[in-house]
Amino acid sequence: MNDLLRNLPRVDDILDVVKEDLPRMVLLASIREVLDNTRAKITAGQTPNTSHEEIARQAIALARAKITPSLKRVINATGIVLHTNLGRATMSEKVAEHVKQIAMDYSTLEYDPKTGKRGSRTGAIENLLTNLTGAEAACIVNNNAAAVLLTLTALCQGGEVIVSRGEFVEIGGSFRVPDVIAQSGAILREVGTTNKTHLSDYKQAIETAAQTTPPPEYYGAWQNFAPQPKAPAVLKVHTSNYKIVGFTAEVAAKELATLGALSIYDLGAGTFIPFEGEETVQEAVKSGMDIVCFSGDKLLGGPQCGIILGKKEYVEKIRKHPLYRALRADKLSLAALEATMLLYQDIDNAKHEIPTLKMLLATGDELKEKAARLLGLLHNKYNAKLQEITGLAGGGSLPTQEFKSWAVAITHGAEKLEKHMRDWETPIIARIHKGTLLLDVRTIDETEFPIIAECLYKTTA
Ligand SMILES: *Cc1c(COP(=O)(O)O)cnc(C)c1O
Repeated sequence: MNDLLRNLPRVDDILDVVKEDLPRMVLLASIREVLDNTRAKITAGQTPNTSHEEIARQAIALARAKITPSLKRVINATGIVLHTNLGRATMSEKVAEHVKQIAMDYSTLEYDPKTGKRGSRTGAIENLLTNLTGAEAACIVNNNAAAVLLTLTALCQGGEVIVSRGEFVEIGGSFRVPDVIAQSGAILREVGTTNKTHLSDYKQAIETAAQTTPPPEYYGAWQNFAPQPKAPAVLKVHTSNYKIVGFTAEVAAKELATLGALSIYDLGAGTFIPFEGEETVQEAVKSGMDIVCFSGDKLLGGPQCGIILGKKEYVEKIRKHPLYRALRADKLSLAALEATMLLYQDIDNAKHEIPTLKMLLATGDELKEKAARLLGLLHNKYNAKLQEITGLAGGGSLPTQEFKSWAVAITHGAEKLEKHMRDWETPIIARIHKGTLLLDVRTIDETEFPIIAECLYKTTA
């Protein structure tokens, strides 16, 4: 052991061997890390290779990893179009090109070339949004969680927010409706039960909520510091990632809008085109809810952002709140959102040009033919077969709608192959169902087929 330790190369020895062009600081740190690891192995009784070449090889690999972004492209073979772990909605080339230009050059972000003066950062996009949805006003923030938090903070702080017990949604990443309400400074008022909530439950809560603020006399000499009585609001939350089935009742948005209280609708995954059983954004706006908010990168197929639509007086209040400045969307998201909204001006075109819609709307026949083309590239390797499968949209949207799709199915060595694909230079993410590896072609672009074929060929499995 002592011999091994004594013969370990020194940092300078390794530096001399490395000819690669790597940042010196990074290379030095990597060499030290490799030497430390090797030393630890020796002390633990192992006999690692301590040659200069081996230590240098490991240090170079480590240094290369340190200067390579960890966020990288993957191939999504899961069939889940809005895969939260894989970045949710993807962008079309047209939209990405626009984003690239805005990223690389100066832009009219807050400047109006016609007047030579400061311009509105979001005015044009808001106009597009109101034209497309029929809303009076719009406002854009960083994501839908921010949209909900900002809306509640700006409009409901200090007041009661009435929510059905069937709609206490947890989205993941610690977004929980009751917690967001607490964070906003509003007071949660639960109504109904898990499976059934009626309009009368909301009505009763509104009537009793009005009595919860103490009368002015209560504060005596402290009148000026008494909390302002705040009218209660109702919040409807789309149960994006689950569905309550069986003996159930929920109150529709258009009924909630008639209660005379401020009404807020967290739609979750807003869609401009109808999906089975899903309320569109236009319908939600038309229902008369005062505020409707949703994500930009779920069914809409745009960038990560949160969109708030609604009555002008409320949207203005939201925009003027100090939190708005902290939560607003950045210019790259705005560029992507505007380019996406421009595509929506021609809905039929949008269905082809927006990747999320294109993938979700692909028909069984199209997918079967696509899967057959991938299968063809495998030339009978692994005894792969075509298999009809069902999948979900993912990303907190369309929780019960099953999407029939087609996959290339491999039973032989499924687990080993699945790992081999994940380890590929461009990781290929597939799922295993009942011992079979499924490559669902819904979310695979045809241009990615050769990469998959190459990966499956270069294996010993
Ligand atoms: C997804 C979702 C959110 C959070 O939206 P993000 O854009 O991910 O922040 C909030 N509410 C509901 C109902 C959702 O489905």
